Amino acid sequence: MSQRFDATERFAEGAQCIGGRPRHGTSGREHTVIDPATGDELLGYELAGPADVDAAVAAAERALPEWSRATPGERSDAMHRFAGVLADRAGDLARAESAQCGKPIRLTTEFDVPGTVDNTAFFAGAARHLEGRSAGEYSADHTSYVRREPIGVVGSIAPWNYPLQMAAWKVLPAIAAGNTVVLKPAELTPLTSLMFARAASDAGIPDGVVNVVSGAGQDAGEHLVGHPSVAMTSFTGSTPVGRRVAEIATRTVKRLHLELGGKAPFVVFDDADLEAAVHGAVAGSLINTGQDCTAATRAYVQRPLYEAFVAGVADLLAGVRLGDPFDPRTDLGPLISHAQRDRVAGFVERARAYATVVTGGRAPGGDLARGAYYLPTLVTGAAQDSEIVQAEIFGPVLVVLPFDGDDEGIALANDTPYGLAASVWSRDVYRTGRATREIKAGCVWVNDHIPIVSEMPHGGFKASGHGKDMSAYSFEEYTQLKHVMSDNTAIARKAWHRTVFAAD
Ligand code: NAD
Repeated sequence: MSQRFDATERFAEGAQCIGGRPRHGTSGREHTVIDPATGDELLGYELAGPADVDAAVAAAERALPEWSRATPGERSDAMHRFAGVLADRAGDLARAESAQCGKPIRLTTEFDVPGTVDNTAFFAGAARHLEGRSAGEYSADHTSYVRREPIGVVGSIAPWNYPLQMAAWKVLPAIAAGNTVVLKPAELTPLTSLMFARAASDAGIPDGVVNVVSGAGQDAGEHLVGHPSVAMTSFTGSTPVGRRVAEIATRTVKRLHLELGGKAPFVVFDDADLEAAVHGAVAGSLINTGQDCTAATRAYVQRPLYEAFVAGVADLLAGVRLGDPFDPRTDLGPLISHAQRDRVAGFVERARAYATVVTGGRAPGGDLARGAYYLPTLVTGAAQDSEIVQAEIFGPVLVVLPFDGDDEGIALANDTPYGLAASVWSRDVYRTGRATREIKAGCVWVNDHIPIVSEMPHGGFKASGHGKDMSAYSFEEYTQLKHVMSDNTAIARKAWHRTVFAAD
């Protein structure tokens, strides 16, 4: 416990970062960050309100001319230094993320923090590779070329499930492309977003390029989305809140980037490697205690493998160790909050009326009872149109359903409003080829589920939103294309003027 993170001392100057300086919020409303593993208070802070958002947007506007005119090489150098500072602070960041989210220290040390450092290094390089089509004479009398320009001040809103990585995904492509950012993390988890902004300053990224307002969604969040000086809203969170954000952003005709909820299918064909599929389903559904928008949530298993798959998953789940997130032996931490734990439990309790809860389905007792823990849970016998199959639960709950023909498996995988991620399991390249083509999701894994890389895009289809995070494709989101068309004839009376001036 001694290695836990002391947030009170670290954020004594406030939980806002505006123009490169820590500040207290001015909303008049306090919020307490709770360690979900214990229920203990980690940090009490004053939330940002509209006036703090205004100050952050003003700081971002002030920083914009210099940052947007910096050469790609200058931005790249600063971001390489930023990656170095983050790498130097890896242990500190991992402890803060584990403390505020209850994530096992193995997860933050081996995934969240190195992923963030790698993303920063990737975008430092990518800043020098903004692409456009070649310049040319598409009309014989003109030379045309494309400029890829920053959009302006970006208002970014992030969820609580991967606070550090979400800060990185929102901020890095935006600043690499020359924008400045006001980031609003979830009020439950501001710590690592503030540490991320601090690292940016310490790396020499100019004050005001990265600002953080830690405030409530309906207050600071809506004010940021509606702000007339914010040119773009980039939102990651749930689909219902995404709809609300889209409505507000539309009023000021903002560029909108939406990364929303998911309900990833996990399709196991009858020639799959059963051991790989069972391990993949358990790891893919339990990562981050199931609070992952791409987590495996619905496993569809072809009838010949169904029973062995259910038995194998139940067996593996029984060995998962819940425990103190700071203990390196812990496999599964708590949910983000007691409210989220109760929400997850509600889905499972309602499912008992129409399905079978094979394992789990309750909070553990003993030492863990104080925390927001919930046992890994396996559900079978649910109908495809039931709540537990259709709704995003965001907890350590896997539902398994059988299917017969390949057509049916693919159709069931596509049968929710979401389309963020999916996986298919088979040794037959023609089967996986067909399934990857026909499943409507922004990412389809073959014989794996979860890995991501900075070079490849992440983003949804259908109600999972639109736009891409990570990868060079994210520059499509954070830049606007300008066509410059330059006359190269030097003729005063141009041929096309005949359409306006009467012929002589
Ligand atoms: P959420 O939608 O409740 O909140 C997300 C953010 O929006 C928070 O910062 C919150 O304060 C803010 N917010 C809430 N109401 C708002 C409003 N009216 N106006 C503006 N901002 C508002 O989501 P959550 O519970 O924090 O996170 C879980 C959700 O995020 C899940 O649905 C998950 O699938 C999704 N998610 C998606 C991705 C992706 O890449 N597609 C990644 C991570 C999480």
